[in-house]
Amino acid sequence: MGTPAATVIGAGLAGCEAALLLAANGLAVRLHEQKPERRSPAHRLDGPAELVCSNSLKSTRVDTAQGLLKAELRRLGSRLLPLAEACALPAGTALAVDPARFSALVAAALDAESAIEVVRGEVTDLPDTAAAPAIVATGPLTGEALGGAIEAHVGRGRLSFYDAVAPTVTRESLDEARLFAASRYGKGDPDYLNAPLDTDEYRDFVAALAAAERFPARGFEAGVPFFESCLPVEVLAERGPETLAHGPMRPVGLTDPATGRWPHAVLQLRRENAAGTLWGLVGCQTQLRRGEQRRVFRMIPALARAEFARYGAVHRNFFLDWPAALTPFQESRRQRGLSFAGQMTGVEGYVESVASGLLAARHILDRHANREPELPPETTLLGALVRFLAGQEEGRGQPMNAAFGLLPPLPGRRRGKRERGAAHAERSLADLAAWLAAR
Ligand SMILES: Cc1cc2nc3c(=O)[nH]c(=O)nc-3n(C[C@H](O)[C@H](O)[C@H](O)COP(=O)(O)OP(=O)(O)OC[C@H]3O[C@@H](n4cnc5c(N)ncnc54)[C@H](O)[C@@H]3O)c2cc1C
Repeated sequence: MGTPAATVIGAGLAGCEAALLLAANGLAVRLHEQKPERRSPAHRLDGPAELVCSNSLKSTRVDTAQGLLKAELRRLGSRLLPLAEACALPAGTALAVDPARFSALVAAALDAESAIEVVRGEVTDLPDTAAAPAIVATGPLTGEALGGAIEAHVGRGRLSFYDAVAPTVTRESLDEARLFAASRYGKGDPDYLNAPLDTDEYRDFVAALAAAERFPARGFEAGVPFFESCLPVEVLAERGPETLAHGPMRPVGLTDPATGRWPHAVLQLRRENAAGTLWGLVGCQTQLRRGEQRRVFRMIPALARAEFARYGAVHRNFFLDWPAALTPFQESRRQRGLSFAGQMTGVEGYVESVASGLLAARHILDRHANREPELPPETTLLGALVRFLAGQEEGRGQPMNAAFGLLPPLPGRRRGKRERGAAHAERSLADLAAWLAAR
């Protein structure tokens, strides 16, 4: 191969999706992969597109966010999704795969593309993009050498090495009768939603929190540093029954209009998107298992039926401060032609990483064809996820997965979760079809 028309670094989920899509559209691609010479602490296989942990790509039901994301990807010509479906294992409505077989199918697809040249070996510096665009998709465990080059490129403080995420819930699932909007001592606008707890409710909540089952850290994650200012909420609960009531759940200055008094404790919720459909649990970064997060946080009266758009997490995770570092098209603000894709942009999850690779490749194809790149409609999960990540406050970005709460609210009122999901899917797929037809 002579000069490639595009370079992709990292043959993971995002990188393979991007490389296969670029090649299918006639671009010669050089795909760099460090395995087997070097591998991250989570990678075991020698092949590409390795699923590093669970073998589930989650739901296929189009009335769920993960199912709709897959339907959108299919419409946009995803290359990896059909390969995953070709090696699906029986798993009810989830798409579970045999990881080794999936990786082998992706390897065969790369091999079959004469326009793709796979180059083995670690890349330690960012590519020059004067002659051809490049996508960096080296994942959440990007090593020191390339990680250092990326940090030098985007600037200190524009990169995170750990996430400490609090759960996010949807506004429509909260019990409005048990909430009040207020800021502490009435200062400024009443920007927070406050979920009050009386003494018994608080004590039960703290006891459940301290005893709840945590996600076991893998060996290489055992050293995740906890900063005193953002300790997991269950660690604070363990320190003593009143620690949270004097910390992130302190009630001072928050008068509950229902009682005219400060409650014993308050969980505050902070708005996470402009539409006000998503709210984060302030100070509740956590390492509890997901089922435990649902069980324990639903003990707070206002959250009794809370739907979780994102679960809390604390783990090693290398990701960019998207709003500061990248354009909405995943391109560096400092170097034309240099894009990033996959989990390192802040998307969270296997299918989201595939989606990010697909979008990065589409933007390169648009440029190549002298078409203005354009994001998918905001009513699609793809469009909404990118807008959410790109629109976060600089320096405060946290990873995000696909969730219906990212989408603009639906007109009218629908009761059931399934009914709402089906309506979101119908609107999204219709808008996506119209957008594709117009391009
Ligand atoms: C431990 C762990 C467990 C996870 N479990 C799940 C899960 O169960 N479900 C889920 O949905 N998501 C999970 N995720 C999150 C995320 O979905 C995966 O990390 C996903 O694989 C990210 O895709 P990616 O393409 O961004 O990166 P990866 O799939 O990690 O791909 C990056 C590729 O780049 C290569 N590479 C890295 N550095 C270089 C370099 N310098 N030069 C050349 N090649 C390089 C790597 O070898 C790898 O092949 C997990 C993440 C981690 C870290």
